[in-house]
Amino acid sequence: MNKQPSFSFELFPPRTPEGVAKLPAVIAQLAAVRPHYFSVTHGAGGSDQDGTYDTLMAVVQHSGVEAVPHLTCVGSTRAKVATLLDRYREAGVKRIVALRGDLPATAMSASAPGEFHYANELVSFIRQTHGNAFTIEVAAYPEVHPQAASSDADFDNFRRKVEAGADGALTQLFYNAEAYFHFMERCDKAGITIPIVPGIMPITSFANTVRFCSGCGADLPRWVRLRLEDLQYDKPALIEFGLNVVTRLCETLLRNGAPSLHFYTINQAEPTLKLWERLSLSVPA
Ligand SMILES: Cc1cc2nc3c(=O)[nH]c(=O)nc-3n(C[C@H](O)[C@H](O)[C@H](O)COP(=O)(O)OP(=O)(O)OC[C@H]3O[C@@H](n4cnc5c(N)ncnc54)[C@H](O)[C@@H]3O)c2cc1C
Repeated sequence: MNKQPSFSFELFPPRTPEGVAKLPAVIAQLAAVRPHYFSVTHGAGGSDQDGTYDTLMAVVQHSGVEAVPHLTCVGSTRAKVATLLDRYREAGVKRIVALRGDLPATAMSASAPGEFHYANELVSFIRQTHGNAFTIEVAAYPEVHPQAASSDADFDNFRRKVEAGADGALTQLFYNAEAYFHFMERCDKAGITIPIVPGIMPITSFANTVRFCSGCGADLPRWVRLRLEDLQYDKPALIEFGLNVVTRLCETLLRNGAPSLHFYTINQAEPTLKLWERLSLSVPA
C-alpha cells in the first residue's frame, strides 16, 4: 500500500436552504482530516456557476483547504468560459476539473451543443488561454462512458484529453477494482503516465446506489446489489455492509498502486470519514 496516500473530497452546491445551512459544518468536519483539496461540482443536478462559486468560497472560508471548481462546457461559449476562468484565477484557484458535462435529455449524439463539443476541446482552450496557470484534472471511465461508441473509442478520447494537456484524472465511481487495473494497464501501454485517481462513492442506501450506478453506467456487482436489497430496511446493517465493501475496494486499489482516492461525499461528512478511519488514512503532516 502507498505509504501516505493522499485523498480529496468532492462537494456539490447545495440546492435547499437546509443544505446551505448545513454546508459549513460538513466542510469543517471533512477539513479536519486535511484532504489534499475539495472539488465542487458544476451543473450536476441543475446547479449553476454561481452555486459552484459560492460553495468554493465556503470551502475557502471554512477550511483553508485548496478549493477546486469543476468546469463543464456543454452548451457554453468560449467567451463565457473565458470569463469564468478569469474569475477563478482572480479568486486564487490553481486547479480545475475540466468536463464536457451531461448532455440535455434531448441530445441526439455524444457531441455537446455550444462551442465546445468534448472535454478535450475545453482542456485545449484552458491551456491556450492560461498556459500552465491551472492544474487540469479530467474524467476517466474505467467501465467506459455510457455514450461512448466503443471501449476503444472511449480510450482514444481519454488519450486526446491527456494530449490536450490534462495533468491528472479522476475516475467515475466503480465497484470493480479490476476495471481500474485494466484501465491502468491500457494507459501504461499507451504511454499515459498522469495520475489517475479512483473516484469512491460510499454506499449508504440501496436505492441511491442503484440510481447512481445506472445514471453513470457503473456496474453494481450482482452480489452487492442483492445484499443491499436484503438490507434496505435495516439501515445499520446496510451501512456496515457498504462500509466493508467500499473499504475492501479502496484497500485493493491502494495496495495495487492507486496514487490517491477521490471521495464523492454527497455533502455528508460521516460516510466518508468512516471510510477514512477504516482505511487508517492519516492526517497529512
Ligand atoms: C470525476 C468526475 C466529476 C464530474 N463532475 C461533474 C460536474 O461537476 N458536473 C457535471 O455536470 N457532470 C460531472 N461529471 C459527469 C460528466 O460530465 C459526464 O460523465 C459527461 O457525460 C461526460 O463528461 P466528460 O468530461 O467525461 O466528457 P468527454 O470526455 O467529452 O466524453 C464524453 C463522451 O463523448 C465521447 N467522445 C469524446 N470525444 C469524442 C469525439 N471526438 N468523437 C466522438 N465521441 C467522443 C466519449 O467517449 C464519451 O462517451 C463528472 C464525472 C466525473 C468522472
